[in-house]
Amino acid sequence: MQDQVIENLIEQFRTLPGVGYKTAQRYAYSVIEGTTERAERFSCAIKEAKEKIGFCKVCGNFTDQEVCPICQKRNRQIVCVVKDPKDVLSMEKVKTYDGVYHVLFGTISPLEHRGPDQIRIKELLSRVQTDKVVEVIVATNPDVEGEATAMYIAKILSPLGVKVTRLAQGIAMGSDLEYADEVTLSKALEARREIN
Ligand SMILES: [Zn+2]
Repeated sequence: MQDQVIENLIEQFRTLPGVGYKTAQRYAYSVIEGTTERAERFSCAIKEAKEKIGFCKVCGNFTDQEVCPICQKRNRQIVCVVKDPKDVLSMEKVKTYDGVYHVLFGTISPLEHRGPDQIRIKELLSRVQTDKVVEVIVATNPDVEGEATAMYIAKILSPLGVKVTRLAQGIAMGSDLEYADEVTLSKALEARREIN
């Protein structure tokens, strides 16, 4: 038997990705055993993030500003297309990359009946035109959906004279960008090839 209040805290931690019951229990006890100040900082950070974080109006990534720092400072003529905001973090491990990003929030999936209209392809198209983009690097994961998405992007952008490239297969087929280390990603970016 566990106290209801403790049980509730454990349940909240369990809603996080990759957190099983044991881990959730450890987190809950850590909060309870820690200082009141720490618990307050923790809950305030969650509340503040929910209140202030929105989407960058250029790339779609999470930001607390209208336009995110990456879009503000970097070369907008090179755009790296990723599936999720967390993939931006992965790609940012490559310190030499000076372009910007475009977050699709999903991939094309015929199996799940998700077409180009359900992800941010339209926004990509208009960006390519207004920012005079010269290269679009498709960094979706090397799985079936990621490939289908890359092919579709190449098909609609190539006629506009934009170079569309894909990360080289340094990343194993079927694996996620998330798990690729800096060296692998740098090599995959350097050896990117054009999709026709
Ligand atoms: Zn942005």
